[in-house]
Amino acid sequence: MRIAIYPGSFDPITNGHLDILERTAAIFDKVYVVLLENPQKKTFFSLDERMDLIRTSVAGLSNVEVASFEGLVVNCAKHFGAQVLIRGLRAVTDFEYELQMAAINKTLDNEVETFFLMTNAEFSFLSSSLVKEVAYFGGEVKKLVPAHVKAALTAKMSERRATE
Ligand code: ADP
Repeated sequence: MRIAIYPGSFDPITNGHLDILERTAAIFDKVYVVLLENPQKKTFFSLDERMDLIRTSVAGLSNVEVASFEGLVVNCAKHFGAQVLIRGLRAVTDFEYELQMAAINKTLDNEVETFFLMTNAEFSFLSSSLVKEVAYFGGEVKKLVPAHVKAALTAKMSERRATE
């Protein structure tokens, strides 16, 4: 069985992430989308909120499962029985960091391979931070994220504004 993990922060999941996920799910028997917990990293959505948003987004993909993990990504791969970890590449700016991560992961565990998927040109500019910024200033995000993510962003933004 070919198993892959797709790790990230997904704060929140975007159409760019989903595109990578759908393409991965078409190739692998099983894909775990894994929210890597990092207590040092402050996120906009909580872990549970991010997991719920992903779960709803992947409801139509029967071989995709949503999970979370705290620790090294290579240990995460082992934990889920995955031989491959998936990363998406947008622009050259992603490349240097991803090259470094792939190299360190290979050093830590030679049995885990990093596979890179090039972004769909349509989503090459898209990041979770950009989506949050656009939503914060009241811009339209319907082409960038699924409808339920847009609703969650709108709700949380107005919650935030009320306390500012
Ligand atoms: P991380 O904090 O690990 O970078 P992200 O949630 O930002 O987590 O991204 C997870 C993965 O998805 C990364 O490999 C990232 O490059 C990829 N990714 C993010 N946005 C896009 C996009 N628009 N197109 C393709 N890949 C993307």
